Amino acid sequence: MSRSYSDAMGRVGAGASVLQGLACLPVFYALRDKRVLVAGGSNAAAWKAELCHGAGAEVAVFAEDPCPALAALALGSPRISLNRRRFEAGDFAGMALAIAALPDPVDARDFIKSARAAGVPANIVDQPGLSDFQFGAIVDRSPLVIGVSTDGASPILAQTIRGRLEAMLPHDIKLWAGAAVAWREKLKERNLPAVARRLFWEGFCARALAPRQTKPVDDDFEALILDTNRGGARETGSVALVGAGPGDPDLLTLKALRFLQSADVILYDDLVAPGVLALARREAEKISVGKRGYRPSCRQDQIVAMLIELASNGKRVVRLKGGDPMVFGRANEEISALRSAGVPVEIVPGVTAALGAAASLQVSLTERDKARRVQFITAHAHDGRLPDDFDWGALCDPHASSVVYMGVKMLGVLSERLLERGIDPATPALLVERATWAEERRIFGTIATLAAKVAAVDPAGPCVVLIGAAFAAYDGEAAPIDHGVKQAAL
Ligand code: SAH
Repeated sequence: MSRSYSDAMGRVGAGASVLQGLACLPVFYALRDKRVLVAGGSNAAAWKAELCHGAGAEVAVFAEDPCPALAALALGSPRISLNRRRFEAGDFAGMALAIAALPDPVDARDFIKSARAAGVPANIVDQPGLSDFQFGAIVDRSPLVIGVSTDGASPILAQTIRGRLEAMLPHDIKLWAGAAVAWREKLKERNLPAVARRLFWEGFCARALAPRQTKPVDDDFEALILDTNRGGARETGSVALVGAGPGDPDLLTLKALRFLQSADVILYDDLVAPGVLALARREAEKISVGKRGYRPSCRQDQIVAMLIELASNGKRVVRLKGGDPMVFGRANEEISALRSAGVPVEIVPGVTAALGAAASLQVSLTERDKARRVQFITAHAHDGRLPDDFDWGALCDPHASSVVYMGVKMLGVLSERLLERGIDPATPALLVERATWAEERRIFGTIATLAAKVAAVDPAGPCVVLIGAAFAAYDGEAAPIDHGVKQAAL
């Protein structure tokens, strides 16, 4: 039985109430082979003419005194005609749209009046109150086009949101959108039932938006058809070791963000800042596998077993590690175990703590005369003690910058050894706790004085110790700690 009229009306009624107060109707208007009138001689007029031309329109520009950009535009395309005079009422006949960049309010009103009389929708640049329609901020991955409007409230807000969208979209989405056009035709020829077509397009979206980016090829089409015949894609699980950076969520890479936003399960370390986790897909299961020295935590073999089990069940797993996964993160153990289990692995780098600290301190780790080499060491061996196989010569080298990870507990012993082996006692040394977090703290001294200062404070958060002549350049007043709330930026 077909749906009754009142049922249909009921649905329409309910839908309409949801959208009450919609500031404007976003429509995407095909301009190919239509005519657009642009009035005004400024750069703003040139840009609108270029935009409409880009969308395939024939553009008639009316400007008594066109700027060079406008003149050049008209010279460059037969679809742009430049009329060096003021617009007249008769010019609006047959136009699909009319756009004016006219600062004089009397001109603008005249323009609107003429456009309305001819039944042509009009826009006056920067005058949303006078306009019939407005331009949004555009993300152009044609045939995929996204327009952002704030109904004139704040063009900068629209542009900022556009920037965020640009960053989130996979690089090759344009190619996938183009493939969708071609494959829609190919798909028709296969005469599939509606359910199968839906499965096809769901699989298509999964490929187009996959965090591991690929360009579409003909094999993708065939693979999607195969999946469709099987009743949908067989989920193959995978694990990505993703660097969460030192703390500030804005330091995540775009790739890390994409993985976080498409994960089924996220296993995260203690070191991962809450602001980073807040950017993850809301539906993703988030499991803390906190692994901090001196505290109870999941054993490494338990973590690996969990990763393998989840991936084997078809889950997209993100193993989120503080800083960079390849720096003091036991990544090789996880990679080789996953490989032996046949689980695909991918690594997404992150900003390691040393680099986060250097950025926050505004001190370069390398400087031509003071530091020719950078070395990252850990002061924490397997047994929790100071490793006994350090290259002491390298650590005492006056031309090296050393960054010590996991070094707080052993700082006293490490400093003593360095002094015994002949490091200059005046060598600058700095401890940075929670680098790039809103709660960042710093303790500045020399290799001879730092350990006692640190012991007095007994920092509880993750710390790096930076040692070397380059750190004499540190100036706490010039590089203050940013105590802003480091929360999810999106
Ligand atoms: N993979 C991480 C390091 C893991 S080892 C990276 O690339 O940064 C853990 C140690 O990293 C901590 O004990 C501490 O020494 C350091 N660390 C991690 N995040 C830090 C931060 N925000 N500030 C200071 N040190 C940090």
